[in-house]
Amino acid sequence: MEIKKVSVIGAGTMGNGIAHVFAQNNYQVKLVDVLQPALDKAIATITKNLDRMVAKGSISEEAKIATLKNLSTNTALEICKDSDLVVEAATENVDIKLKIFKQLDELCKPETILASNTSSISITKIGAATRRADKVIGMHFMNPVPVMKLVEIIKGYSTSEEVMKEIMSCSQKLGKIPVEVNDYPGFVANRILMPMINEAIYSLYEGVAGVNEIDTVMKLGMAHPMGPLQLADFIGLDVCLAIMKVLHDGFGNPKYAPCPLLVNMVTAGRLGAKTGEGFYKYEAGCKELKVSSQFLWHT
Ligand code: NAD
Repeated sequence: MEIKKVSVIGAGTMGNGIAHVFAQNNYQVKLVDVLQPALDKAIATITKNLDRMVAKGSISEEAKIATLKNLSTNTALEICKDSDLVVEAATENVDIKLKIFKQLDELCKPETILASNTSSISITKIGAATRRADKVIGMHFMNPVPVMKLVEIIKGYSTSEEVMKEIMSCSQKLGKIPVEVNDYPGFVANRILMPMINEAIYSLYEGVAGVNEIDTVMKLGMAHPMGPLQLADFIGLDVCLAIMKVLHDGFGNPKYAPCPLLVNMVTAGRLGAKTGEGFYKYEAGCKELKVSSQFLWHT
């Protein structure tokens, strides 16, 4: 089966980027979210990102118009029923994902491939909630999706070789570099990245150093393009906490316990860039990165 029609479920940080790259590569894309404001914001973000690409000369004005033409939005999941591929990028919550996959399994034609962009939840578990576990796969894009080359392709216990090949080839058609990994908590990317971010938050929590100091050590000392606290803000602290919980539960090892400061910030609704404040403050038009006032006592 040739993949032509794609649906993306969830129009948040990742969903808008995933819809953007499929639409830019001539797929017909339906973007679905339970919240109409999330869909409106996603279209505004995609348009702004395409404008930036036109201004830089990396795409033409015609390519921008064609990309937007390939996109449509809806709040009803039923709209996905004729898709060849569905990529789910809804909130990192196992109950939400299992419910979506059960519904998709009932709605979609038998040959539709169901992929999840989950950062850490078991693809095998998601597959087991459907009657097509052989056609359920992990397609873990990196943030920001239009820029980052990697896609971690996760093979669930029952994912077929044929589906694996199809999704590796589809990722290449998007101009990405797919890497095949097996289905264990956090896969590869977040099994390594999240404990580092959690440890950076522990370093702040225990007063080892302030926000700027921790990020500067990792940027200058390890040549990371961005410090781990700033990266956590861009990923979303709720997403980071959800991944740490999956690692903690999945391995049963206390070394993955989420830092209490991370738990407190998520409880307080300080989720990072998407809510305007995390370890740093994100004010409209603010060019210089400012540490959140909550952490200024460190510096
Ligand atoms: P987000 O909070 O920015 O967006 C999630 C969106 O899902 C929201 O707009 C929400 O309204 C929508 N949603 C919730 N339930 C829904 C449902 N039943 N049907 C349709 N839409 C629904 O989250 P995000 O950061 O975009 O993360 C999405 C997924 O991508 C998660 O699984 C996350 O782990 C993964 N991921 C995130 C990053 C990152 O850097 N943020 C990177 C890679 C993977």
